Amino acid sequence: MNYDFDETVRLEDDLYNYVNGKWISKAKIPADKPTTGGFINLQDGVEKTLLKDFKKYSQKLTKDELFNRALNLYNKAMNEDERIKGKSYLLDKANYLDNIKDNTSFNEAVYYLYDNNYPLPFSMGVSEDMKDATKHALCLMGPHTILPDTSMYNTPNKEQLLNVYKEMALTILNKLEIPNALDLLNKTLEFDDKLSKIVKSSEEWADYIKAYNPYSINDLINYFDFNFKSLVVSRYGILPDTVIVYEPRFIENYKDLMSDYSLYQAWAKVSLILGNVSLLSEEFRDLAGTFNRAINGTTKMISKDKYAYRLASSYYDEVIGVYYGKKYFGEEAKADVISIVKNLITSYKRRLNENKWLSRQTIDKAINKLDKMAIKIGYPDTIDKRYYNFVFDLNAPLIEVVDNLNKIASAYADTKLYKPVDKSAWVMSGNTVNACYNPSFNDITFPAAILQAPFYSIKQTVEENYGGIGCVIGHEISHAFDNNGAQMDELGNINNWWTEEDYKNFQTKIDLMTAEFDGLPLAGATVNGKLSVSENIADNGGVASSLESLKRIKPDCDLKLFFFNYARIWCQKSRPEYTKLLLTVDVHGPSYYRANMQVRNFEEFYDTFNIKSTDKMYLAPEKRLVIW
Ligand SMILES: [Zn+2]
Repeated sequence: MNYDFDETVRLEDDLYNYVNGKWISKAKIPADKPTTGGFINLQDGVEKTLLKDFKKYSQKLTKDELFNRALNLYNKAMNEDERIKGKSYLLDKANYLDNIKDNTSFNEAVYYLYDNNYPLPFSMGVSEDMKDATKHALCLMGPHTILPDTSMYNTPNKEQLLNVYKEMALTILNKLEIPNALDLLNKTLEFDDKLSKIVKSSEEWADYIKAYNPYSINDLINYFDFNFKSLVVSRYGILPDTVIVYEPRFIENYKDLMSDYSLYQAWAKVSLILGNVSLLSEEFRDLAGTFNRAINGTTKMISKDKYAYRLASSYYDEVIGVYYGKKYFGEEAKADVISIVKNLITSYKRRLNENKWLSRQTIDKAINKLDKMAIKIGYPDTIDKRYYNFVFDLNAPLIEVVDNLNKIASAYADTKLYKPVDKSAWVMSGNTVNACYNPSFNDITFPAAILQAPFYSIKQTVEENYGGIGCVIGHEISHAFDNNGAQMDELGNINNWWTEEDYKNFQTKIDLMTAEFDGLPLAGATVNGKLSVSENIADNGGVASSLESLKRIKPDCDLKLFFFNYARIWCQKSRPEYTKLLLTVDVHGPSYYRANMQVRNFEEFYDTFNIKSTDKMYLAPEKRLVIW
């Protein structure tokens, strides 16, 4: 592959900009996007390909019944004359909330509210039991705040952003002729402010092991001012002994949150309207996007066809992923990627065997976890059963269709409470440009869409493929051994398999990685070391294991190409508002540092480019950190 280096930058001072600087200086971020480059360009390419197919088949359906449903939903979203007919559906649904005046009326209505997907003052659902991943558990947490993170409620930006929200909401409520709009809005913001003080921040959520707080049902009911037990029985048909509370602080303050039901009533009404009004028309969709655009810095909404495609793919993601994988992903590439994954696992095992800071006992446990790790590449062989349930009335307005699809999705998810966990399920669809490790399944997934250049190509050099997809594969494997994953065993259960001393050593390394990234400056803000530590540990393990694999299979490899492509996969240009947003909410560090900070930890980087202590990319040997 050709590189167009930015010769005005010294590689020894800034690898990322040496590789990507020229592209970044020329790139223009489209008005409807917060960011461009790297992952985003690939995602755009996949979307363009699928959108072309959607347009082609939308008038003349295919032979695939499930894919046709996605096409029908796309057609519905494209038809504006029909969308606006759903207005009375939304207004009727919103007006029902006028009945909720106190905890007595809430207690009577809560079953209906729950079954009909109303915004509730708590969120309940079924997920894998983190201590027994063969079973499901009932889980409970708080609703989302208006600002994307609770920490934003303590910044000078808060007022300005909430004013944008308020103005947007007022315009929409007035257009819909909702009475007492200003009063509803003030109450909504008051409820949201109370919420922001009791739900978790992104930094707290990042420590996902701490979400596991089993409460006995008999203890839990005391935190509610309505009959929680009978809601659970009516919805699930059984009463589990235990509920996993993800946010104990929220539950402990629930009664205070609900001390004035008029606040909840207003918040639920406004949230319901703002969350659904885009389905009625393009004018409403444009209006309802104002707040998000202020948050991420974009100036234009995405086109109608992209919106329609994304709506369809949000319900039929696996169906579209399988279609994409079968049509655009070759068996040759799949076999090649499997061999890279196997190489990475072999290297990982070797590195664990040679580990100097762990006892043999812990090493053996780690290798056992690695041996049990399942691999998913491309797309699933069969489509999950839930997609067959997603049937809708072709004559109903879009908003009603979407509402019913949401009801079907949550009802299906809720029936899992009685069923064993199906570990063959995929958590990412084939058309996703991403990869993941699922701690409860102890598996790694690489969808078809990420298996393309610059991450991977049969046409790229071996060095480039290891600098790209090799590091991504190593990254996902390393999530099994990051600060969270390391607390779960080979079966996907929270279980301490470490000796005390080994875990203490590991904690020291976690702290060092946190410190390495914490406070790094970007776009007038700084990196949060704690929020991003799990991803930084994974990046570190990814580079370490991919480098080792490459050197083993190709002893005369040109490591320059490895590092060039590693820097290139992170190439990205973002709006400053978006960069700041991600620094607050994203567990991944910013692309610039994922490339530039991480390579400084490796001897190979210094040797390959002859980096000296006077260069900006230099990190003193005692500060270099390689964990796995
Ligand atoms: Zn990751």
